[in-house]
Amino acid sequence: MEAMTTGPIDQCEIKADGTWVTIGIRDAQLLRKTQIRCKACAGRIRVQMKFTAHPSPYFMHFAKHDGCRNTPHLFSGVSSRHPEALE
Ligand SMILES: [Zn+2]
Repeated sequence: MEAMTTGPIDQCEIKADGTWVTIGIRDAQLLRKTQIRCKACAGRIRVQMKFTAHPSPYFMHFAKHDGCRNTPHLFSGVSSRHPEALE
């Protein structure tokens, strides 16, 4: 059986009244906001669903960035802000 996890990232930031607010991935999925950013690099992300026996949401960066620890398979080891960071 597959473990029921949402992976290492389960939070993101959305803009509410001009400020970035941290929310959980499941809330982000329900809100369907277009402006969602990564907490680590501030890059724009979207919520995708994994269609497995236990469907779970996960984050996907619109543009890949090797300075983001939220994408371990790409991470260069040095954290840096996304070149197209949402302000
Ligand atoms: Zn990121």
